[in-house]
Amino acid sequence: MTTLSVRAPIAWLGPGRLVERAQIVCDGGAVTYAGEATYIGHADREIVVDGLLMPAVADRHVHIELSSPGEVLAGGVTAVRDLAWPADRIFPLADASELPTFDGPLIRAAGPMLTAPGGYPTQDAWAPPGTGREVKSPEDAALAVDELVRLGAAAIKLSLNAEAGPTPSDAELAAICDAAHAADVPVSAHAQGKGQVERALGAGVDELAHTPWTRLSDDVIQTAATRMRIVSTLDILSFGRDTPEIRTALDNLRRFHVAGGEIAYGTDLGNGEIPPGIHEREARLMREAGMEPEEVLEAMIRAPLEPDAPADLIELASSPLEDLSALGDVRTVIRGGRVVAG
Ligand SMILES: [Zn+2]
Repeated sequence: MTTLSVRAPIAWLGPGRLVERAQIVCDGGAVTYAGEATYIGHADREIVVDGLLMPAVADRHVHIELSSPGEVLAGGVTAVRDLAWPADRIFPLADASELPTFDGPLIRAAGPMLTAPGGYPTQDAWAPPGTGREVKSPEDAALAVDELVRLGAAAIKLSLNAEAGPTPSDAELAAICDAAHAADVPVSAHAQGKGQVERALGAGVDELAHTPWTRLSDDVIQTAATRMRIVSTLDILSFGRDTPEIRTALDNLRRFHVAGGEIAYGTDLGNGEIPPGIHEREARLMREAGMEPEEVLEAMIRAPLEPDAPADLIELASSPLEDLSALGDVRTVIRGGRVVAG
């Protein structure tokens, strides 16, 4: 294994852990030391940077083949979760991404979205054939989950988009959640249209793949905050403009956050003009929803820097704890203990 030592005047290792005169030591793909620069010992490669070190970013909602994996990695994102793509394309790519020489982030994947016959995204131009898997009965729905789990699905993506076609029945919904939970795999739903978040809650869905942009009642928000995680994907609702959708989504997310709900950073990369790499505007929208800068960072990282954590880290020119726009200036990217950019 090759060892790497990185020193910096300051590092944010994770929540509550801001360290001056910092050093991170990696052995192959894992961190062996993260803290003050007191580590003594030889590393095969030693670098000194003058910015801020922090854990690299994970994007929990992408469609990686609609973007450029190499640019995603060079932009500071070392792990992604692909939430809908044909199984015969995404699972082999996810396997390939585990190699340290892969020019892109580590990819985990859901495979196709489970949907009703003719439902979203089977009629949508962005989605190649096989991006949706139509389920025809509760039995078929359970079978579809088992197939995806066998292929290595990291999550089951469920389409509850009532504005773009039919959705699975309540019985199919329950069968999907039961089969996924029996295999210890979470269910992530695209819930859109009146009453769809309520249906997801009733069936035991674990995550909303987007912040909903139809207003949720306080009761629904309260219940969701105890049972579900929300993946942010705020910027796809406005792309830097002011829209009714972004206002409603920010209001939903603000109340969800106040109620103690868990929020994860995700961009829906591949949908519209989302740039590859860290998306600074998404982080600033999370801040606008009431999250403190450190909470935003916590929602964005793959894992805190500590022994046995993945050796995935980035150097920024300045501190994002003071101004999140620092996330737009990535100088160095390290994935699996190897410097891949900078
Ligand atoms: Zn998506």
